[in-house]
Amino acid sequence: MSFDVALTRSQFPVLNQRVGKKRLAYLDNAATTHKPQAVMSAVDRYYGEYNSNIHRAVHTLSQKATEAYESSRQRVAEFLGADRPDEIVFTAGTTAGINLVANSWADQHIQPGDEILISHLEHHSNIVPWQLLCERRGCTLKVIPVLEDGQLDLSAYEQLLSERTRLVALSHVSNTLGVITPLDVMIPKAKEWGATVLIDGAQAVAHLPVNVTELGCDFYVFSGHKLYGPTGIGVLWGRGEVLHGMPPWQGGGDMIETVSFAGSTWAEPPARFEAGTPNIVGAIGLAAAIDYFDALDHAAVTAHEDALLRQATEALLNIPGLRILGTAEPKLSVISFTLEGVHPHDIGMILNKEGVAIRTGHHCTQPLMERFGLDATARASFALYNDQEDVSALLHGLETVRRLFA
Ligand code: PLP
Repeated sequence: MSFDVALTRSQFPVLNQRVGKKRLAYLDNAATTHKPQAVMSAVDRYYGEYNSNIHRAVHTLSQKATEAYESSRQRVAEFLGADRPDEIVFTAGTTAGINLVANSWADQHIQPGDEILISHLEHHSNIVPWQLLCERRGCTLKVIPVLEDGQLDLSAYEQLLSERTRLVALSHVSNTLGVITPLDVMIPKAKEWGATVLIDGAQAVAHLPVNVTELGCDFYVFSGHKLYGPTGIGVLWGRGEVLHGMPPWQGGGDMIETVSFAGSTWAEPPARFEAGTPNIVGAIGLAAAIDYFDALDHAAVTAHEDALLRQATEALLNIPGLRILGTAEPKLSVISFTLEGVHPHDIGMILNKEGVAIRTGHHCTQPLMERFGLDATARASFALYNDQEDVSALLHGLETVRRLFA
């Protein structure tokens, strides 16, 4: 099997359009990915053929919907290399997964004086829930520094770890830099101190094979919309025994075993953490996205994305005054850059006129921006459907930027 990018592009209807008079070059994939026809069809089939609430009815449509929802859970478990489907909690996304852990597991286990260890390059969604926890529980947030090339400072990490470290929460891949966190080194080190480990896989799942059992973490979270699936659906994987010991965070239907005014009892996980009607169609769409993605030749996809990243990086580095943030290896899919004398926002506006969609701003990583003395960068990020023409459009657009600001 090899990778046919033209065929792949034809499976993503949204790509076949012009922005003004220009061909769309969508390079904002770290923010969200487009959806293949297979995902849209699965969503359509749910609404058109068996739309129904799940778990609590005996009628045929509800049974079909329940079966589809629960087999989506099974599909996600296989995708992540989880031991069991009941280790998969459907959430609204990465942010919701982290907040669930912060409000359930952490509220139960964290004592005043305990330390939560994160890194300087985390997305706000892996910073703020821990700050809120520290306010509630009197714990302290510690931060692993980032080196000049975007890699985490591993010797500082070792020094920060101690018997006070209760939780280490790290991105698998930085959304601003594309640099891959060396989890194979960092997770075992955290475990030596008995810390619980949460990995934010938002930027990893669409690019790297993820096996939670091999990683050795306790929690892994990601969002469906960055993996060619729908928005509003995400996954929290939790190690079975850890999830079982956790109290509910949100109360409501479906998360209980019994309810009475004298007191209520909780359902087993994952239901315990899925109060209310869940995003049924989101879970079904996510499973369709995983089916689509997993049917591809992953080695060929990686080689394709890597070639685009290298080619674009080399060409960008030839532009006078252009600086790339995050040069450490291994890295993937993201190029964050600044251009001397031009605000990233202006770069984004001019590129948009050329049909090129990139992201500009702090990318929800303000502490990292501050670390590099910046308030914003321009960020181009790649997905499997990007091609050479997209890279050429980016380079051509940047020539226009330079001409206009010369
Ligand atoms: N973590 C990382 C590394 C991200 O890139 C993102 C989104 O950009 C998030 C967390 C938050 O994801 P969501 O907004 O889907 O919850």
